Amino acid sequence: MEKRPQLDILLCAPRGFCAGVDRAIQIVELALEKYGAPVYVRHAIVHNKYVVDGLRDKGAVFVEELSEIPETDAPVVFSAHGVPKSVPADARSRNMFFLDATCPLVSKVHVEAQRHFAEGHEIVLIGHKGHPEVVGTMGQLPQGAITLVETVADAMVFEPKDPETLAFVTQTTLSVDDTREIVTALRQRFPAINGPHKEDICYATTNRQEAIKAVAPEVDAMIVVGSPNSSNSLRLVEVAERAGCKNAMLVDRAAEIDWSRLEGIRSLGVSAGASAPEKLVDEVIEAFAQRYDIKVEARVTAKENIAFNIPRELRTIEAAVA
Ligand code: SF4
Repeated sequence: MEKRPQLDILLCAPRGFCAGVDRAIQIVELALEKYGAPVYVRHAIVHNKYVVDGLRDKGAVFVEELSEIPETDAPVVFSAHGVPKSVPADARSRNMFFLDATCPLVSKVHVEAQRHFAEGHEIVLIGHKGHPEVVGTMGQLPQGAITLVETVADAMVFEPKDPETLAFVTQTTLSVDDTREIVTALRQRFPAINGPHKEDICYATTNRQEAIKAVAPEVDAMIVVGSPNSSNSLRLVEVAERAGCKNAMLVDRAAEIDWSRLEGIRSLGVSAGASAPEKLVDEVIEAFAQRYDIKVEARVTAKENIAFNIPRELRTIEAAVA
């Protein structure tokens, strides 16, 4: 039998599902259990194709806007990324029964933005234009109250109405390092700016970036399991590249691995975005086990034990299922 090449796999930990994603998926599953299909979901509940397809198979119907939903008693779930204030208002005016799966750490940013606004601050949001979380956060306040800053260059040309009454908030899934640079630029230009101690990047984003940073310099290639619309997964690929692993790729499933980029590698790092199920990480490792003699070692840089409560309406059914 032909001798297979050896491959050392370093498995980044933490990786994969965060507490906000776990909660959002549970909300859809429990709603299906309690109310039956269909359960409408506004936007992909989390940015992962496998998760969305799996819930669709169970009876979830994904829409982008409430106007796509026929008159119905079926519940409507808002995705983990959060929604502008106009969305629950619209749902109420249509007499829809809705469940909000917005991650509590995104809701926290909404509250911060509202507090700054109430205190008379002009607000800067550091984030990526068009991302549903950014749309949701900007939509907490009247148009014009929040200015989006995406880069250091944006921060350098931003002209506030009054530098003395300025505040910033951030998207939760940004690159920690890029955001630090943008915050530094803002603080240098506007020393009186109000904001969180560092930024609003969540624990899960921070921990996954730290884990991949620790592994990247030691491996010949890195695989990040995640979907291309997942902001935090895309950031993991960038972080790996900047930390010294130039051959980093994002794959939704094992079938997408570009084996031509992996010829001759002796070591591989594996991580997964916050919306990618562990099952898909197992699938990727199994694909490598088919081609290599693998040795898998976990590289743990932090432990996580965070869990969020699910909405009251679903708690009894949660207890019955558990
Ligand atoms: Fe919440 Fe962070 Fe997970 Fe987003 S990545 S759902 S903010 S815990």
